[in-house]
Order: sequence, then structure tokens, then C-alpha cells
Amino acid sequence: MSVVKKKINGIKKIIAISSAKGGVGKSTICANLACATSKLNLKVGILDADIYGPSIPQLFSINEKPITDGMILDPIEKYNLQLMSIGFLVDQNVPMIWRGPMVSSAIKTFTNKVRWKDIDVLFIDMPPGTGDALLTFSQEIQIDGAIIITTPQKLSVNDANRGIEMFKKLNVPIFGIIENMSFIKDKDNSVSYPFGKDGALSLINKHNLELLANLEINDELSKSSDIGIPLLESDLNSEISKNFLKIAEKIKSKLYN
Ligand code: ADP
Repeated sequence: MSVVKKKINGIKKIIAISSAKGGVGKSTICANLACATSKLNLKVGILDADIYGPSIPQLFSINEKPITDGMILDPIEKYNLQLMSIGFLVDQNVPMIWRGPMVSSAIKTFTNKVRWKDIDVLFIDMPPGTGDALLTFSQEIQIDGAIIITTPQKLSVNDANRGIEMFKKLNVPIFGIIENMSFIKDKDNSVSYPFGKDGALSLINKHNLELLANLEINDELSKSSDIGIPLLESDLNSEISKNFLKIAEKIKSKLYN
């Protein structure tokens, strides 16, 4: 049975950033990749759909609430991006015990009741895992490409495999895999692999996917999360920023070629 998937008003293309496991750098990558893509003359937005643990407010240092007329929410604009997150709407200190149906209704709010303005590419920071929220999105919304984030560790790779299988079943095109925390460079430029080596390679071979990048463990990147300024906005010339720009170019060519 083929289901007609919805488009979201004001949005031309949608990319889902997904990881089957938490803590692998999905939100950090989503934030920096969105910033990188906006530097390629595209109008970019982020929908933080990580309903259980929204990170976009912290990553962009946003404490204000979106403006609303009671019906429609305006996204918050920062660094030329339009941003929406469940974290803008609820007190960050209140634990969020969302149940399945509530997750679906939150997703509907974000897709139907946000005044997205003329966005070329919306990045969705998906909740980790293959649960309700990911399913609802993938079944109802027209996703143009999914990007899977994993570390080289077996634990993460095994879960990523499940995520890939799910996107495949739902006919969501997978643009590729980003292996995060692949290696660390010491001061003397020697390289070590604290989480193992080539973890994503097995997924690439098994599913015939593209490896979009291997990103290093980088303390500038982790500091930027704590400060709340994406590295792409504070140091465009850093090695890691250049890597994000390269990934953004690849995504752009997959979307428009
Ligand atoms: P997830 O969204 O998968 O839960 P986060 O983006 O919140 O993961 O990242 C988890 C932690 O790891 C954060 O503290 C973040 O700053 C850090 N981190 C992510 N990627 C890197 C990296 N390449 N180098 C250093 N720290 C990283």
C-alpha cells in the first residue's frame, strides 16, 4: 500500500538526522551541518524533534520563547537559521514523560503550526532510537534524505543498522552515514582510535551506502556545545568546520542533482 506523505508548508526539502543511540553526536552534527548548509546560499531551518531530550536550545544558547498568535508559532531566528524545538516551549528542568500519542501530537504541532518562512532545507534532529516519533515522522512526512550518525563502536553500529533497516522499510532515501568520534589527534599529530576503527565500514558495505565523513573527537566542538555557539559560527576556518562544509556540499548535490 502506498501512502501519500505530506509536505510541510514553507519547506522545500527535508533531511532527517538520525542515530539509533543517544550520545553519539547527532544534535551537535545537526546544528553544525545546518549552519554549514546555510553558508551555501540556502535558507535553512532546524526542527528539534528530539522530544525526550531537546538539545537545540543549549547548542544555540536560546532562552526565549517563540512568538505566537495563539494558533501559529513563529520559529526563532538565529545565525540566519529558523529554529523550532520542544525545548523552547517547556521548562528545561521539567522531565518530559511523553507518551506515544502525545509524541504524535507534538509532531503534528511542529509540522502544521509553525510559520516556516520559505525554507530550502529543513534539518530534523530526530529522537534517538527507532521509536514512535521516528516512525510517525517517517510515515507521515515526505523526507528527502536521512543521514545516519554512528560512532565506530559496535554498540552504536548495531543500533545504527536497525535505524537503516527501518528507513529502508519506510522507503526513506538514505543519503549516507557520518562516523563521529572516529579518531583523536594528539598534539604531536599522532592518531588514536578510542572507540575502535572502521565501525561504519561494515554498514557501508552491507547496505551499499556512502560514508559522508569521519569526524574526529575535537575539544573545540565539545566546547562549542557548552558555550552555545556552533563551531561553524565561531570558527569557520577550523578543520572541523571545513569538514562540515564538505558534507553540506555533498548533501546539496544529492538534493539538487
Ligand atoms: P546526541 O544528540 O547523539 O545525543 P550530542 O550531540 O548531544 O549527542 O553529543 C553528545 C556529547 O558529545 C556532547 O557533549 C557533544 O558536545 C559531544 N560531541 C559530539 N561530537 C563530538 C566530537 N566529534 N568531538 C568532541 N565532542 C563531541
